[in-house]
Amino acid sequence: MAAKQTDTAKQITYLAGALKAPRITEAASRMADQARDAGWSFEDYLAAVLEREVSARNTPGAELRIKAAGFPARKTLEDFDFDAQPTARQQTAALASGGFLLEARNVVLLGPPGTGKTHLATALGIVAARHGYRVLFAAATDWVTHLTDAHQQGNLPRELARLRRYGLIIVDEVGYLPFEQDAANLFFQLVSSRYEHASLILTSNLPFSGWGGVFGDQAVAAAMIDRIVHHADVLTLKGASYRLRVRGIDSLPSIKTQDPAD
Ligand code: ADP
Ligand code: MG
Repeated sequence: MAAKQTDTAKQITYLAGALKAPRITEAASRMADQARDAGWSFEDYLAAVLEREVSARNTPGAELRIKAAGFPARKTLEDFDFDAQPTARQQTAALASGGFLLEARNVVLLGPPGTGKTHLATALGIVAARHGYRVLFAAATDWVTHLTDAHQQGNLPRELARLRRYGLIIVDEVGYLPFEQDAANLFFQLVSSRYEHASLILTSNLPFSGWGGVFGDQAVAAAMIDRIVHHADVLTLKGASYRLRVRGIDSLPSIKTQDPAD
């Protein structure tokens, strides 16, 4: 067994050299350990190895795209503790290959505060930047302000066309503040303009059933959700806030009583 693995490792080294991609040798062995631990499929493993190589090749441009994206903090998939969110592990591994961007699929991250929605949205944004996609990150209310400005200047169609050239737009915190009717309509236009063209990642602390209240109108919310989830992966994060958990604060009685779901 050990001898066979060594032969295979040598073969990988040789083949990676022949492909002029020597980094694959290191990625293949490191990712194999991760794949065995996490129970990835063969396809997920291959995608992860190839992704590393593509990332490494794209690095100079990727740094610029990461800086331009406006992430609130730099967070990566490697930094994410999947033991805290085991159900997100498989789905995220599939997304990490970046295939969702090519297919203009969306990702929706749902869950209570502190469960890692912004972290995962940022991490997938970094994946996108490394794959060569331009990315923009902003909170839902900032998107609405931005679209309102464009609308008032009579520039909305041009602005939506410009945004379509971004392979990924991230809308963080849908539902923290309800939208005015006009804002809901502008947001709907953003979603429509990207539908089957380019990806969106949305995060929300509300389940879809609560979005009607945010958009002030059940019909607008339903039409929007329909377009968003038609081609989407929906990840539902659960449990107590990671911020509190790592500090051990979640064991305080006052916090416990505030979170009956846990
Ligand atoms: P949310 O957007 O769901 O409110 P965040 O993504 O902002 O939560 O997470 C809050 C903080 O906790 C961030 O600093 C984030 O990096 C960290 N965090 C949350 N979940 C995890 C996790 N599973 N592994 C590592 N860090 C995490
Ligand atoms: Mg957040």
